[in-house]
Amino acid sequence: MSGGPVGRFAPSPSGRLHLGNLGCSLLAWLSAKSRGGKIVLRIEDLDAARCPRVYADQLEEDLAWLGLVWDEGGSQGGTHGPYYQSECSEIYTQSYKKLEKMHLVYPCFCSRAQLHAASAPHTSDGNVVYPGTCRDLTPAEVAAKAQVKAPAWRLKVPDEVISFEDGCMGPHAENLLTDCGDFYLRRADGVFAYQLAVVVDDARMGVTEVVRGADLLSSTARQLYLYRLLGLKAPAFAHCPLLLAADGRRLSKRDGDQSLENLRGKYTAPEIVGKLAWLYGIQPEPAPRTPESLLAEFDWAKVPKADICIPEGLF
Ligand SMILES: [Zn+2]
Repeated sequence: MSGGPVGRFAPSPSGRLHLGNLGCSLLAWLSAKSRGGKIVLRIEDLDAARCPRVYADQLEEDLAWLGLVWDEGGSQGGTHGPYYQSECSEIYTQSYKKLEKMHLVYPCFCSRAQLHAASAPHTSDGNVVYPGTCRDLTPAEVAAKAQVKAPAWRLKVPDEVISFEDGCMGPHAENLLTDCGDFYLRRADGVFAYQLAVVVDDARMGVTEVVRGADLLSSTARQLYLYRLLGLKAPAFAHCPLLLAADGRRLSKRDGDQSLENLRGKYTAPEIVGKLAWLYGIQPEPAPRTPESLLAEFDWAKVPKADICIPEGLF
């Protein structure tokens, strides 16, 4: 057993991987492996209807094709796993019940339209700061509203600044109450929220280092709060810069041109890995490389903090 970090790939299989997903996977792999650690694969298919298993299988095949081999989890056997969040609802329920017992969970009946009212302040990632509308409903009010509509469930947050040192982005701080507000733990249809599932899973899989896209930087304060409430040890975090299309658009799974389906027809795996390593500053030119060959050169200090535009014609 090595004493290195335990990292993870935690992709959501709602479509084929795009370059941004691949880039994060490469950085997670390099960060853990360059320090003698290992990588766990977890399939984040909480919304099972949007994440059919055939996509998860394809995703595993794509990562393996790139040479980003994981040590645990996945459908090909091994000592642990596979880990599909859609199969772990009972595990999340246990943690959810702990939070309920602390009297920190309450039903929210707000509609999407109410939440997105024109006056609502927004968070840095574009969500609405929840103003606590349903926080202090009386039992009679809850009973009356529940006759009309099934509620979602929120966690009460404190008026407190949570700060941490990000391995890529540096210091980050957020006041949960004013920058985010009470956040969802469970949807009205019973599906657990990403924030709860990801904390419970990273803790039980022994993950000590979370590498993911900068779009999740502002989730981290919420997750650190959950780690504290649940008495779990929080991992280190490193949020990598987002890759943008040449015109500045965010990549999405709908971008066919930047999806692995298209790229695999045009390039070899070392060509794709080498171009990504160059974009992230790990090597000085976009020459073909295997992930292993980059281990000695990897250093978070080389990775830029700002979003990266993929130059026209690179892929
Ligand atoms: Zn509400």
